[in-house]
Amino acid sequence: MDLQLTDKVAVITGGTVGIGLAVARGLAAEGAHLALCARDTDRLEAVVQALRTEFPVRVLGVTADVGGLDDITNLARAVTDEFGGADILINNAGTGSEETILEASDERWQAYWDLHVMAAVRLARVFAPQMKARGGGVILHNASICATQPLGYEPIYNVTKAALVMFSKCLANELIGDNIRVNTVNPGLVQTPDWEKTARALTEGTDRSWEDHLQQIADDYAPIGRFADPAEIANLFVFLCSPRASYMVGSSYYIDGGWLRTTT
Ligand code: NDP
Repeated sequence: MDLQLTDKVAVITGGTVGIGLAVARGLAAEGAHLALCARDTDRLEAVVQALRTEFPVRVLGVTADVGGLDDITNLARAVTDEFGGADILINNAGTGSEETILEASDERWQAYWDLHVMAAVRLARVFAPQMKARGGGVILHNASICATQPLGYEPIYNVTKAALVMFSKCLANELIGDNIRVNTVNPGLVQTPDWEKTARALTEGTDRSWEDHLQQIADDYAPIGRFADPAEIANLFVFLCSPRASYMVGSSYYIDGGWLRTTT
């Protein structure tokens, strides 16, 4: 199937590792040009070089913390300078949390609100007008199954990802008249280097391997009995970016190996 993504310009926040990198590779394989942003400049530059070598597309890397307005403004300026605008925005940057509601500070809540919600608000404000001028576009939000089915140890993550899902729905209603389709993807367990690092730390010095630790988590949560590879999640993102997904608007798509325990 031709996904009709050749020469589209895709902005991916947090595109240097894990799901974001897999989405970047998936879109580049379809001929889309990339603008990636992340905070770690060294890793960003290495990834940009690797993608340029692997795919015959243009790749821009911009060091940016999307939790702040200034860096988002700089990112938009860099994308405009390099490509003249964007057709696709993947709001992917995010991270888990661990706290109790009674002990977490206001500052902690605010930082996650800025990263998971305000980044999406501010990025929509700068990139949606560009998409409108180009005749349409796609905005995807990477939320989480935890937006619907919370994990007990990360209430701030659960709450801010739930807010992101509602923001995505509202934005979809506001932008579909401009031919901009907005949707959310809610992944379950996805085996990223970060999960592996945590598993290694938790099992170091024990008689249990980090692989066994992850397998136990998969057995406990996901009926499919394993983590997803990031590329399996990226496949859905890439399809949602395509004009082939033209009637998919304002929805949340779960991709969780059966973990969601309801039908919604
Ligand atoms: P990783 O931790 O592997 O990667 C996160 C990416 O985001 C990195 O490129 C990181 O680069 C970047 N990033 C983090 N904070 C910022 C910031 N403030 N500004 C700019 N870039 C930032 O994440 P995953 O691939 O695991 O997750 C990606 C998204 O998917 C997240 O939103 C996560 O909540 C969601 N998700 C993940 C699941 C999983 O099991 N892995 C399950 C469900 C949802 P740098 O550190 O250099 O900034």
